[in-house]
This record gives sequence, structure tokens and C-alpha cells, in this order.
Amino acid sequence: MNGDSADDGWGLFNLARRRKAGGAQIIELTQGEHDIGTDARILQAMHDATMAGVTGYSPVPGMATLREVVATRLTERTGVVTTPDHVQITPGGQAGLFAAHCAACDPGDRALFIDPYYATYPGTLRAVGAVPVPVEARSRDGFQPRGAAIAEKAEGATSLLINTPNNPTGAVYGPDTLTEIAGVVRDHDLWLISDEVYDTQVWQGRHLSPRALADMSERTLVVGSMSKSHAMTGSRLGWVVGPPEVIENLTFLANATTYGVPGFVQKAGLFALSLGSDFEAEIAAPFRRRREIVLRLVEGQNVVRAIPAQGAMYTMLDIRATGLSGEEFGRKLLDEEAIAVMPGESFGQAAAGHLRLALTVEDDLLEDAVARLLRLAAALAG
Ligand code: PMP
Repeated sequence: MNGDSADDGWGLFNLARRRKAGGAQIIELTQGEHDIGTDARILQAMHDATMAGVTGYSPVPGMATLREVVATRLTERTGVVTTPDHVQITPGGQAGLFAAHCAACDPGDRALFIDPYYATYPGTLRAVGAVPVPVEARSRDGFQPRGAAIAEKAEGATSLLINTPNNPTGAVYGPDTLTEIAGVVRDHDLWLISDEVYDTQVWQGRHLSPRALADMSERTLVVGSMSKSHAMTGSRLGWVVGPPEVIENLTFLANATTYGVPGFVQKAGLFALSLGSDFEAEIAAPFRRRREIVLRLVEGQNVVRAIPAQGAMYTMLDIRATGLSGEEFGRKLLDEEAIAVMPGESFGQAAAGHLRLALTVEDDLLEDAVARLLRLAAALAG
């Protein structure tokens, strides 16, 4: 991914980056990366670990202490007793997504995923040899997937990948949605791969993991990460939680690929997790605030409509009333206003005619960018 081809979703992003490298001033509302770096205390913990000699090979499944803390976290959040043998530490959530699909799918298997989707999903499924099959979640349903739509594609499928809180839509799946999903997963004997990397960024409702539902822990693989919750994107630290026999296979896979995650990174993650939920709320706070800014600016507009994100660090805008696609609008916005956003089409056909704004710049810059975007939309529609 991240290539330059027209259909990989990253074309506008790459164009903006090139213009920026050439000296242009561009407001980037593209990538899901905090505008703050990793907290200095976490970096200090990483430094201390390196100086204390934690620089050799580390256990391939992950350090026992970190697996224990992740297991406890999952027990607390799902009510399902989780022990270290349910946890494989991975180099980020992305590697967790790949590993989970490796465990679930054989080459040629049909792997379902919900559209709109995080842009790497189809490539990840293809990388394990599976056949990616999108299931549409509709804008008018608030992008909550429907059980019937999943069931329609589930015949002969092996797995279903879901993501709540969702990137790009901000949908947080409620109990009804998850119960419907679990029903289809059980009926069709699927693996459920639950990407929960935004679980600390919830603005409305609360995060529910399908692992907590009856009879689901045995067929659910939860993918987690420190990237979004602790502003540790560059550290590459995440996990997969699932049944021990699956975790054993993931350890074989890690043996054959990454051979584990650097010990000093795991030590830093351990320290970061010890900072507790107040720290996680602090990391999430700017996105909660900026979401409000966007909603306030878009309220009462008749050309642009906001899809109020219930979670995650993005807001989707429906710009279909301009008559332009997300790609076309995004290109004009970049050319005329030097503002870069992600076109909805980057995240699948169900998000066509939408834009995804990452809430990752200072409040006043965001306010200025959204005001200019709205003026452009009004001019195009008028
Ligand atoms: N899942 C989703 C939905 C994401 O948005 C991202 C990153 N943007 C990831 C997984 C992977 O994150 P990481 O590998 O940094 O943990």
C-alpha cells in the first residue's frame, strides 16, 4: 500500500506529501497520527530499558509481564477471563491483522470485511492469500453493518473482519449491531476478527467487544494496539487476543517472520499501560474537542452534512450535494485551498461522495480548514 496508483486510496495523500516536500504549506487532515509525539515519560522508559540492557532477543510470544497486563486489560474490558496464553504481542495492530487472518484463513478462502474500511484491509487479506469480500454498511444506517447484509455474503466464507470504533466512519457498534453480527458468525461458523485499536476513543455510547458476547470468545480474535491509545504509532506495539491454540500458531508465525518485538519497546508499552485510563483520556481529549468543532461548523449547512462520529479520531463529511466525488472534491480542495483530506473512495464504495477528515491538527487550524472547505462546497453547489 501507500503506493501511487490511482486505486490504492493513497493518491491524494502522496500528492499532498510531494507538494509539501517541495515547500508548499498544506494543512494535512489525512493520516491517523496524533499531532503530539509519544509522551516523554514513555520515551524515558524506553531509554532506561535500552541502557539496562534490554536489547537482546525477547520472547517471541511477547514478554510475560506485558502479556499479563494485556490479559488483565481484556479481562476487565470484556468480563471474559483472559490469561497470558491468550495473548500474542505483535509489531503493531497492522501485523496483528495480518497474523489473525493467517491463523483464520487458508489460501483461496473468502474473507469478509465491512465497507467502508480502513484502507489496508483488502491488501492484508490478499497478502494471506484470502479473497477479500466487502459487505456494505450504509451511510443512512449511520454505517452500522446489518446482519442480513453479512449473511448474504457469508455462505462458504471463513472469516469476518469488523472494526469498532470505526475508521473511517466513526461508528461505534452498539449491542444490537454486535448481537446481529455474532448471530451470523455463529450460524455460518466464521472466525470474527475484531479490530479494536480505537477502543479508548469513544465519544458516544461505550466500546463493546464482541469477545464479551455469549459463545464468542472461542471464535473471536481481538486486534489491539498502543498506537492510537497512547500516541505510540512509531513504536509498533500491538497484540492479538484469542484462544490459546490460535495464539500458539501465531507464535509459530512470529518465529518465522518478526521473531518478536524489541524488548525495550515492550518495556515502554508496559510503562505506558501503567499510566492508566486518565492518561488514555488525555490522549483522546483533543479528538473529542475537535469533533465538536467540526460538528458546530457544519451544523445548519445544506451542502455538506457531517456524519457525527461516535468514536475514533476522524469525522466523515457527506459532500454528495456538490455533485462531485470525494476524489474530485479532495483534489479541488488540495489545488485551491492547500488542504489535504482523504476521499471517501479510499475506504471503499460505501464511502463514495464523502471525505474523511483526520482531527490531527491544532484546533484553530482545523477550524480554518473546515471553514474553507465549506466555502468551497457552497461555491461548487451554488
Ligand atoms: N486498524 C485500524 C482501523 C487503523 O486505523 C490502524 C491505523 N491507522 C490500524 C489498524 C493499524 O494501526 P497500528 O499498526 O499502528 O497499530
